[in-house]
Amino acid sequence: MTRDTKTDRVLGDATRVVQAGRRPEWTQGIVNPPVWRASTVLYDSIADLRANAGRDTHHRLYYGRRGTPTQWSLADALTSLEPGAEATFLYPSGVAAIAAALLSVLSPGDELLLVDSAYDPTRGQAMQLLKRFGITTRFYDPLIGAGIADLVGPNTRAIFLESPGSLTFEVQDVPAIVAVAKRQGLTTLLDNTWATPLFFPAIEKGIDLTILAATKYVVGHSDAMLGSVTAAPGHFARLRDMSFQLGQVASPDDSWLGSRGLRTMAVRLAQHQASALEIARWLAARPEVAQVLHPALPSCPGHEYWARDFKGSSGLFSFVLNGGDERARAALIDSLDLFGIGYSWGGFESLAIPADPARIRTAAPRDYAGPLVRLQIGLEDAGDLIADLEHGLAAFRAAL
Ligand SMILES: *Cc1c(COP(=O)(O)O)cnc(C)c1O
Repeated sequence: MTRDTKTDRVLGDATRVVQAGRRPEWTQGIVNPPVWRASTVLYDSIADLRANAGRDTHHRLYYGRRGTPTQWSLADALTSLEPGAEATFLYPSGVAAIAAALLSVLSPGDELLLVDSAYDPTRGQAMQLLKRFGITTRFYDPLIGAGIADLVGPNTRAIFLESPGSLTFEVQDVPAIVAVAKRQGLTTLLDNTWATPLFFPAIEKGIDLTILAATKYVVGHSDAMLGSVTAAPGHFARLRDMSFQLGQVASPDDSWLGSRGLRTMAVRLAQHQASALEIARWLAARPEVAQVLHPALPSCPGHEYWARDFKGSSGLFSFVLNGGDERARAALIDSLDLFGIGYSWGGFESLAIPADPARIRTAAPRDYAGPLVRLQIGLEDAGDLIADLEHGLAAFRAAL
């Protein structure tokens, strides 16, 4: 819960995303913070230039790479959505945010515990980038919970979580893992893209660095790339320092699109949630479907943790076909009219892609009754999407 600083009233999510980050000195009387584009910042004199060089540049114009009020406003807004957080750094993509967060924590000789259901490019960073710098990775079962204590060795430095996981949607027991991390002095990083801080306030739950592919629900319109890392107290200085060294800066134009998208994030998420649940329940009752991997349904591994810890569910989930092969799955997806075929998600339009976790997973592979399809449920009428899926399942049956 966040309280209004003036009235001390508790504000709801829709109010918070409308208010967030709109400081008068950054908006200058305009409703949504405008685009401040800059490389050079001019100083009055050499004395002024020298005085600025020694100062903390947080929320102070210094040079374009350190940001302008456009980026500060969005970063500040994301911080305010995470009760207890210190500050947020923005990145040109979610993957860039993950890399900076990992590099701010890990050093040569360290070991990272990485959830086996992580987004594939996160695995790629562990196996290539981190490996080259002498950092080793152990993958763990997303359902490990407190059992993660058994994997902690003398060089373990950090635990990376993603809940629910990419493609297969296992929900993790975040409080149990955080408790182990705190006991052992490990840093926790969470990819919170699916839930956003509205459905899972990660810092409040004890996470040290919470990461968003803001490309998804913050931007919300499939027209910009953006990432963020929000830090718990004590973790921001290292994150900012590493991000500056890497030369990371999110563009003012893309940050503005993020700030604009954020204003409607609560109402969009409410609709994504309602439509995705309706469609997931409809799919669960179909004979062509063996299992629906939606965190809010009991058929999803880790559903009990979702029910205990989350305030809602978003618009992305997978379902398992009842048998069938690659060709039958392609017949289903290719026959859909309203669902586009493409990567990413979190925009206003629905998407469907084949999901193949078996090609990726190493620590906790699972057997599924048939091929998986991942759906992003957009803001179209749910009835239209169900009619489209009905047509797709008929094409699947015909291809069996
Ligand atoms: C898309 C995605 C990312 C990466 O974000 P980009 O902005 O595309 O780089 C990271 N994590 C998850 C869970 C994602 O779905």
